Amino acid sequence: MAEARLARVIGAERIGPQARLLRLAMAGGELGFTGGQYIIVNTGIELDGGKLAKRAYSIVSSDAEQTEFQLAVRRIGEGPGSNFMHRIAVGAELPFSGPWGKFLPETTSGSRLVFATDTGITATLGLLRGRQFREFAGGTTVVWFVEADDYFIPASFARVWIQAECAGFEIVAAPRVGDPERLPCARALLDRVLARRRTDWVYLAGDGALIYPLRDHLSGAGVPLERIRLEAFFNNPDRRARS
Ligand SMILES: Cc1cc2nc3c(=O)[nH]c(=O)nc-3n(C[C@H](O)[C@H](O)[C@H](O)COP(=O)(O)OP(=O)(O)OC[C@H]3O[C@@H](n4cnc5c(N)ncnc54)[C@H](O)[C@@H]3O)c2cc1C
Repeated sequence: MAEARLARVIGAERIGPQARLLRLAMAGGELGFTGGQYIIVNTGIELDGGKLAKRAYSIVSSDAEQTEFQLAVRRIGEGPGSNFMHRIAVGAELPFSGPWGKFLPETTSGSRLVFATDTGITATLGLLRGRQFREFAGGTTVVWFVEADDYFIPASFARVWIQAECAGFEIVAAPRVGDPERLPCARALLDRVLARRRTDWVYLAGDGALIYPLRDHLSGAGVPLERIRLEAFFNNPDRRARS
């Protein structure tokens, strides 16, 4: 059973029409995370069937700081988890477990492509801002495939956080989630990026309906599967197969 931990909300800022940035302080000790990982928040909200709504949120701040950390949350319709995270007040305690996740920095040299879709940008921000990844930032290209500038974290925020670290950062307009053109567009984008420069390691985060087929596409293009890291935020085919 996962250890229950506590953090306190010490700051909250609306950073977009549907986006909130939360600053949290550990109630005691250190979080002990590596950039790219996430926590699972226990909202305490009971869902139909009696299960508690527990939701994953990636840590967007640098792992150089372990007593305080930041989360960025996009409100998804009437969803219980994201609305809880948009409601929680400064001063409140946030129960969670973690850190979790294998979306971790590789320490072997080589050029890197970090490809985020939609809210998946948070996992890549944590990764890119982490201590271990920074060493390779100069050889890293970042692409964010997202519907609109105000979809989530403002482009200006992401640019400041990413550009200081990386060789290149591009935001590319994506068709909406569920649009049949999304996957062909994402594939074509990936091909353009791969044609421009050699890619030794790839990190894909966001919509599972895109990143799993993109992983297969990359594999077909010669990138070994063991050099591709994935973090699906929604439409996760693995999870569907288990449930
Ligand atoms: C490893 C991991 C890390 C995550 N990190 C973050 C993060 O840093 N910030 C963040 O805002 N969210 C993040 N998420 C998503 C988050 O866990 C919740 O799924 C999200 O907040 C919706 O929860 P909900 O209870 O509000 O809605 P739900 O009722 O659970 O979801 C409603 C519907 O929306 C779909 N959905 C979920 N997210 C999206 C999305 N981005 N775009 C379109 N549809 C979506 C769900 O598949 C579901 O069908 C992460 C998910 C995972 C698995």
